[in-house]
Amino acid sequence: MSERTTVESGSRIHDQYDVVVVGAGNAGLVAALAANDDGARVLVLEAAPEAERGGNSRFSGGIFRCAHNGMESLLPLITKESARWADRVSVAPYPAEVYKAEYDQSSLGRNDEGLTARVIDESYETVQWMADHGVRWELTVGKLIDPDKIPEGEVYALPPGGALRAADEGVGLIDDLFAAVEKANIDVWYDSPVSELLMEGSTCRGVVIQGTSGFSEVHAVTVLAAGGFEANSEMRQRWLGPGWDLVKVRGTRFNMGAVLNAAMEAGAKPVGHWGGCHAVPIDASAPDVGDLRVTDKMSRYSYPYALLLNSDCERFVDEGEKHVWLTYAKTGAAIRGQTGAWAFQLFDAKTSHLLEPRYSTGTPIVADDLPTLAGLLGVSPAALVDTVNAFNAACGDGEFDPFSMDGLSAAPAGQPVKSNWAQKIDTAPYVVYPVTCGITFTYGGLDVDDTARVKDVADRVMPGLHATGELTGGFFYHNYPAGAGLVRGAVFGRLAGAGAAAEALAAS
Ligand SMILES: Cc1cc2nc3c(=O)[nH]c(=O)nc-3n(C[C@H](O)[C@H](O)[C@H](O)COP(=O)(O)OP(=O)(O)OC[C@H]3O[C@@H](n4cnc5c(N)ncnc54)[C@H](O)[C@@H]3O)c2cc1C
Repeated sequence: MSERTTVESGSRIHDQYDVVVVGAGNAGLVAALAANDDGARVLVLEAAPEAERGGNSRFSGGIFRCAHNGMESLLPLITKESARWADRVSVAPYPAEVYKAEYDQSSLGRNDEGLTARVIDESYETVQWMADHGVRWELTVGKLIDPDKIPEGEVYALPPGGALRAADEGVGLIDDLFAAVEKANIDVWYDSPVSELLMEGSTCRGVVIQGTSGFSEVHAVTVLAAGGFEANSEMRQRWLGPGWDLVKVRGTRFNMGAVLNAAMEAGAKPVGHWGGCHAVPIDASAPDVGDLRVTDKMSRYSYPYALLLNSDCERFVDEGEKHVWLTYAKTGAAIRGQTGAWAFQLFDAKTSHLLEPRYSTGTPIVADDLPTLAGLLGVSPAALVDTVNAFNAACGDGEFDPFSMDGLSAAPAGQPVKSNWAQKIDTAPYVVYPVTCGITFTYGGLDVDDTARVKDVADRVMPGLHATGELTGGFFYHNYPAGAGLVRGAVFGRLAGAGAAAEALAAS
């Protein structure tokens, strides 16, 4: 071990590692494992204490959007326990072209083509690679519907792009990745926030750790994987706009954008949708910042069966535009735009049994008639009745199918259209869940090439600097298909880790 203290800076220097990875979420841990596989001596630096390790990845639902050939290509990956659902659910193939189309539509075509292609093309093999490193996988049974509520003899079609998740969701994913990191004897230093990059021109020589009473330096080829700036209210206000300072944060409190800022200070190029973010409907009583005891269980994604109304009892989105996993990530922003960043989801007895199991973490407001419900909610009874009546009058008679886009639409005058699942709200008891906006992660980030090397403001690759995960930009704009965040971090984590190891070993 070689550790020195320089007279000039008074900093302690650690130069016994080939590769330093900043951030111990999914993206960083995958990068660390990939670098270790290729023979590098790896150090992971994590700002959080050990008890809060794992970043947003640990809070996540663990869904990995990967291209596949249907159930036959998922069965070899999933646990035995999950495989018991294989005859109760179906999974259609999810070819790369469909993945690309859904991805491109979500980002309105602004996503970088090369980066997107890399994510999609390497998604399945990355999941296999993670399985080889001990990550357990399962079907997403139980996410959208309680499996016990699938009627006997019926087969429930999982959304093909969102059919696979890490076993035990984000908590299981992080447990499995840390088990692999520990097995590989990779060092992890907690309480080690990185505040600066060590630069020689555009070449990165390592990073500075800000301790409570001094600084230390790690000299190594660097992989940045320290998340976005969603937990930083000042940066949210600056980049996302007025009102975003006050939204609730769904995940870790440590994604403060400090490494993003340090990298840009060092000359790295920002790219992508800095004014955009992934934000979803969450329970209005959710904590201000993510709580590991509830992880993602405050999310409220059954609104396609509901009317989503603001405090004036007005509808403001097409609740049934598409499958919820293609709309939820932009719906938080729509809620944030309403008075008090507040709205409510109104269900009636015909659909209230279809709510995602995680609605059980909330307390519904229930009444047998709309005026009473309005009184309990503190909204205008007349406005609520008017909106619901106008909506009901526009509903047709087609067949409601909760599990596929049923084309049952309504176009009430003066209200947004509801493209699918448009049934009358007319059967007591009426059930309401108040919601607000919860930010998940930010879309703007560092510019990387399709091998995860960071570019500088003159568009040149920065030697010694690689990046992956939420901290990179150019992948998502405006919206997002569920499960694409973790897979982006993992695909580029492998590239970053392998690239950093190759660079370090070539220089040694
Ligand atoms: C509630 C919730 C549910 C989600 N569900 C899904 C899902 O099902 N599927 C999906 O694909 N995505 C999901 N996401 C998004 C997904 O979690 C992120 O896209 C992904 O975890 C990002 O991984 P990452 O490794 O880049 O960042 P993170 O996992 O956030 O890791 C970044 C790490 O960097 C550390 N760090 C920050 N600053 C510093 C610093 N200065 N120095 C050192 N370390 C630092 C942080 O502490 C953190 O540990 C969800 C997110 C949330 C919050």
